Amino acid sequence: MKAVRIHQFGGPEVLRYEDVPDPQPRKDQVLVRVQACSLNHLDLWVRKGLPGVKLPHILGSDVAGEIAEIGEYVTGLTVGQRVLVAPMHFCQHCPKCLAGLQNQCREFTVLGNAVDGGNCELIALPAANIIPFPDVLDFNQAASVPLVFVTAWHMLVGIARVRPGQTVLILGGSSGVGIAAIQIAKLFRCRVITTAGSEAKLEKARGLGADHGINHYKQKIPDEVRKITNKEGVDIVVEHVGAATWEESIKSLRTAGTLVTCGATTGSSVGVDLRHLFARQLRLLGSYMGTMAELNEVLGHIFAGRLKPVVDHVFPMSEVRAAHEYLENSQMFGKVMIEVGQ
Ligand SMILES: [Zn+2]
Repeated sequence: MKAVRIHQFGGPEVLRYEDVPDPQPRKDQVLVRVQACSLNHLDLWVRKGLPGVKLPHILGSDVAGEIAEIGEYVTGLTVGQRVLVAPMHFCQHCPKCLAGLQNQCREFTVLGNAVDGGNCELIALPAANIIPFPDVLDFNQAASVPLVFVTAWHMLVGIARVRPGQTVLILGGSSGVGIAAIQIAKLFRCRVITTAGSEAKLEKARGLGADHGINHYKQKIPDEVRKITNKEGVDIVVEHVGAATWEESIKSLRTAGTLVTCGATTGSSVGVDLRHLFARQLRLLGSYMGTMAELNEVLGHIFAGRLKPVVDHVFPMSEVRAAHEYLENSQMFGKVMIEVGQ
């Protein structure tokens, strides 16, 4: 089969579109014929080099396709069914997995990170990862959803415990996680403030329901938040930008507000003034992906049309280098897709 692999870490030039052996599914696995795969910033980090990645390595976390083959021990699925893939690897038998806390499993990793991913024509996965999806979505839409929507749902609902009517500041409203978080916060009838680097992107964010937009190149985030919230600050900040926005995010919180972070795109070393942490009673919380229950919950809203996938651009798998460059240049509003197809 064809796949996108890296044999060394580096820039887009290390991505190779090449022939690799077909995977041989185990009896407890399902073989999926991949139709579409979305890019995430994780693909860029893995390509540049992360600990635990064994070379050569197949990239890609978010997969949608059709069932090609079903292992003897698997029940409840049929060949030809349109499915998306839970973008996570977990052991399925430790106490955390059995408690439904898959993202706390010691073996937990994101598909395409420490295990081979879905930038390929065929992928073999445990039946637990396979989720059929309805005809309302095409393959690109389906593959654009899982990682960013489960991440945003876990951040807002699982970790920050969002309540109806709260005010939420969502950094990077044009990113995959930002687009998901805006819609989820609106589902909870929150007031949403978001940031982006251009008026065109802010307009699209408003189209998804954002109440206020801040252009982070022209305006100071905490100053605008103070104006919008009558000097009070926000209940929740959704962070994934990292060093470039950390201080502004903390300044934007109200007393006893919650900052939840799932990423550090602009750098991971930040400072915390402990006096502010305790005197303002802030909660600074980390979040990583989500659980299978949360994925299924957020997919229910997607399938019902209450949350919408946003696809920006589709590249054929053979043009994966151009797709990585496009994502790195941050020109998109929504997800960048790799179309695999046959
Ligand atoms: Zn486990």
